[in-house]
Amino acid sequence: MREKPVMVLYVEDNYDNRVLIRRVLEAEGYEMCEASTANRAFEQLEAHDPDIILMDINMPEMDGYTLTAKIKEIPKYKELPVIAVTANVMRGDKERSLKAGCDGYIQKPIDIDLLTEQIERFRRKRISN
Ligand code: MN
Repeated sequence: MREKPVMVLYVEDNYDNRVLIRRVLEAEGYEMCEASTANRAFEQLEAHDPDIILMDINMPEMDGYTLTAKIKEIPKYKELPVIAVTANVMRGDKERSLKAGCDGYIQKPIDIDLLTEQIERFRRKRISN
Protein backbone atom coordinates (compact mmCIF):
# COMPACT_ATOMS: atom_id res chain seq x y z
CA MET A 1 0.00 0.00 0.00
CA ARG A 2 1.38 3.34 -0.97
CA GLU A 3 1.58 5.95 1.74
CA LYS A 4 -0.07 9.28 1.25
CA PRO A 5 2.58 11.83 0.20
CA VAL A 6 3.76 14.23 2.89
CA MET A 7 2.30 17.69 2.34
CA VAL A 8 4.65 20.56 3.11
CA LEU A 9 3.42 24.15 3.40
CA TYR A 10 6.22 26.55 2.50
CA VAL A 11 5.56 30.10 3.67
CA GLU A 12 7.99 32.33 1.79
CA ASP A 13 7.73 35.75 0.17
CA ASN A 14 10.50 35.06 -2.36
CA TYR A 15 9.19 33.51 -5.55
CA ASP A 16 12.49 31.99 -6.67
CA ASN A 17 12.91 30.22 -3.34
CA ARG A 18 9.42 28.76 -3.63
CA VAL A 19 10.12 27.47 -7.14
CA LEU A 20 13.42 25.90 -6.06
CA ILE A 21 12.06 24.19 -2.96
CA ARG A 22 9.00 22.93 -4.82
CA ARG A 23 11.26 21.34 -7.42
CA VAL A 24 13.37 19.66 -4.73
CA LEU A 25 10.42 18.40 -2.70
CA GLU A 26 8.38 17.13 -5.63
CA ALA A 27 11.41 15.28 -7.00
CA GLU A 28 11.57 13.48 -3.62
CA GLY A 29 7.91 12.51 -3.69
CA TYR A 30 6.59 15.23 -1.40
CA GLU A 31 3.71 17.52 -2.14
CA MET A 32 4.05 21.23 -1.52
CA CYS A 33 1.61 24.05 -1.11
CA GLU A 34 2.86 27.58 -0.71
CA ALA A 35 2.00 30.96 0.67
CA SER A 36 3.66 34.34 0.25
CA THR A 37 1.70 36.12 2.97
CA ALA A 38 0.22 35.34 6.37
CA ASN A 39 -3.36 35.47 5.09
CA ARG A 40 -2.52 33.09 2.30
CA ALA A 41 -0.83 30.77 4.80
CA PHE A 42 -4.08 30.43 6.76
CA GLU A 43 -5.97 29.72 3.54
CA GLN A 44 -3.46 27.04 2.59
CA LEU A 45 -3.64 25.47 6.05
CA GLU A 46 -7.38 25.08 5.64
CA ALA A 47 -7.20 23.91 2.04
CA HIS A 48 -4.37 21.37 2.29
CA ASP A 49 -4.03 20.32 5.93
CA PRO A 50 -0.22 20.11 5.66
CA ASP A 51 1.94 17.69 7.66
CA ILE A 52 4.68 20.24 8.30
CA ILE A 53 5.40 23.93 7.68
CA LEU A 54 8.62 25.49 6.44
CA MET A 55 8.40 29.06 7.69
CA ASP A 56 10.47 31.88 6.26
CA ILE A 57 11.19 34.37 9.03
CA ASN A 58 11.83 37.53 7.03
CA MET A 59 8.61 38.54 5.36
CA PRO A 60 7.30 42.04 4.73
CA GLU A 61 3.81 42.08 6.27
CA MET A 62 4.15 39.73 9.19
CA ASP A 63 7.36 37.99 10.16
CA GLY A 64 7.54 34.23 10.50
CA TYR A 65 7.84 34.34 14.30
CA THR A 66 4.59 36.23 14.65
CA LEU A 67 2.83 34.04 12.12
CA THR A 68 4.05 30.85 13.80
CA ALA A 69 2.79 32.07 17.17
CA LYS A 70 -0.62 32.85 15.61
CA ILE A 71 -0.83 29.43 13.97
CA LYS A 72 0.12 27.67 17.21
CA GLU A 73 -2.61 29.56 19.07
CA ILE A 74 -5.14 27.56 17.06
CA PRO A 75 -5.74 24.29 18.92
CA LYS A 76 -5.84 22.06 15.83
CA TYR A 77 -2.44 23.37 14.68
CA LYS A 78 -0.74 23.28 18.05
CA GLU A 79 1.00 19.99 17.21
CA LEU A 80 1.78 20.83 13.60
CA PRO A 81 5.58 20.96 13.20
CA VAL A 82 6.93 24.33 12.07
CA ILE A 83 10.52 24.66 10.90
CA ALA A 84 11.83 28.22 10.87
CA VAL A 85 13.92 29.10 7.81
CA THR A 86 16.08 32.14 8.17
CA ALA A 87 19.21 33.82 6.89
CA ASN A 88 19.52 35.66 10.18
CA VAL A 89 22.61 34.42 11.88
CA MET A 90 22.26 36.72 14.83
CA ARG A 91 22.71 35.13 18.19
CA GLY A 92 19.40 34.50 19.83
CA ASP A 93 17.64 33.74 16.56
CA LYS A 94 17.31 30.07 17.35
CA GLU A 95 15.95 30.89 20.80
CA ARG A 96 13.52 33.36 19.30
CA SER A 97 12.18 30.83 16.82
CA LEU A 98 11.70 28.25 19.55
CA LYS A 99 10.00 30.80 21.77
CA ALA A 100 7.57 31.60 18.96
CA GLY A 101 6.62 27.93 18.93
CA CYS A 102 8.79 26.72 16.04
CA ASP A 103 9.82 23.10 16.44
CA GLY A 104 13.06 23.46 14.58
CA TYR A 105 15.29 25.81 12.74
CA ILE A 106 17.22 25.63 9.46
CA GLN A 107 19.47 28.21 7.92
CA LYS A 108 19.21 29.90 4.57
CA PRO A 109 20.39 29.24 1.97
CA ILE A 110 18.57 25.94 2.37
CA ASP A 111 20.89 23.00 1.76
CA ILE A 112 18.77 21.10 -0.74
CA ASP A 113 20.72 17.88 -0.18
CA LEU A 114 19.74 17.93 3.49
CA LEU A 115 16.22 19.32 3.26
CA THR A 116 14.18 16.12 3.16
CA GLU A 117 16.35 14.58 5.87
CA GLN A 118 15.64 17.61 8.06
CA ILE A 119 11.94 17.48 7.31
CA GLU A 120 11.84 13.79 8.28
CA ARG A 121 13.78 14.46 11.46
CA PHE A 122 11.34 17.13 12.58
CA ARG A 123 8.33 15.03 11.61
CA ARG A 124 9.63 12.02 13.56
CA LYS A 125 10.46 14.15 16.56
CA ARG A 126 6.88 15.34 16.62
CA ILE A 127 5.38 11.91 16.04
CA SER A 128 7.45 10.30 18.81
CA ASN A 129 6.59 12.98 21.38
MN1 MN B 1 11.73 36.33 3.00
